Amino acid sequence: MQTTTADLVDEARRQAEICNACRYCEGYCAVFPDLHANRVFTSGDLTQLANLCHNCRGCYYACQYTAPHEFDLNLPRALADLRQASWEDFAWPQPLARRFHRDGVALSLAVLLGFAALFLAIGALPGEGDGFYAQISHGAMVAIFLPAFLFPLLSLAISMRRYWAATGGGGLSRAAFRRAFGDAVRMKNLAGGHGEGCNFEAEDRFSQARRRAHQAVMWGFLLCFASTASGTLLHYLFNQPAPYPLWSLPKLLGLPGGVLMVLGCFWLASLKRRADPELGARAVRGGEMGFLLL
Ligand code: SF4
Ligand code: SF4
Repeated sequence: MQTTTADLVDEARRQAEICNACRYCEGYCAVFPDLHANRVFTSGDLTQLANLCHNCRGCYYACQYTAPHEFDLNLPRALADLRQASWEDFAWPQPLARRFHRDGVALSLAVLLGFAALFLAIGALPGEGDGFYAQISHGAMVAIFLPAFLFPLLSLAISMRRYWAATGGGGLSRAAFRRAFGDAVRMKNLAGGHGEGCNFEAEDRFSQARRRAHQAVMWGFLLCFASTASGTLLHYLFNQPAPYPLWSLPKLLGLPGGVLMVLGCFWLASLKRRADPELGARAVRGGEMGFLLL
């Protein structure tokens, strides 16, 4: 029988109620203070708890109620399953989200091959201009990358709006929003409740590896974005079209950005390969690996 989102909500609620009575993991992460603030858990509350959890697995290795105990606690997996279901429910366009979770690696390879074929086809057309634009015309670049920039923004805005409505985000104060934004930028929760790191790939040994790998991807992405933005400004405001020399802003920002992103993604993939799959959402492992590959 297929597991539905309602089944996942029921299982997360059962485990959250046991944790609420136990309270041993009080200072482990941002999930527990929020969990302990409730007596009754709506599905919106549980969705928010699931998305606060970053699957560090600290609570599993500390828990005295895991199997073979009859409570059979596995909070990291219960929240991971519900988190993945919530992404499928709220992400827009929804059919693509479901497909990506199930067949992520195959879809990533298909996208990669599709882009390679597209660039080959465009490269075979006569260019219009010098240097870089002799290979791909400026018009073709804009036609590919403008939608590739705008579509994710639209998708994120619609998906976040749905999530916000389902989890009652409207009640958030400005101060709480600022604090949450600051925590997210610093990836504070990935440092564990006491700053010693998480147990993701190293069982009960604490490690900062996952936080560092995520930071490499985030800063790499921001540097690449700054590189593209600086190239756009040079092109349109200062009439300096590509190609740019090594000692120029687009390259000084873009080179380290690209290296950081690639290293960070390979690091995350290798951590995921070492981690116990039973403590995460098994059904979407392909999608997670596909996302890293992309
Ligand atoms: S995970 Fe286990 S030890 Fe931690 S609060 Fe829940 S029941 Fe208690
Ligand atoms: S897996 Fe980590 S982040 Fe998730 S609830 Fe347990 S301690 Fe918190």
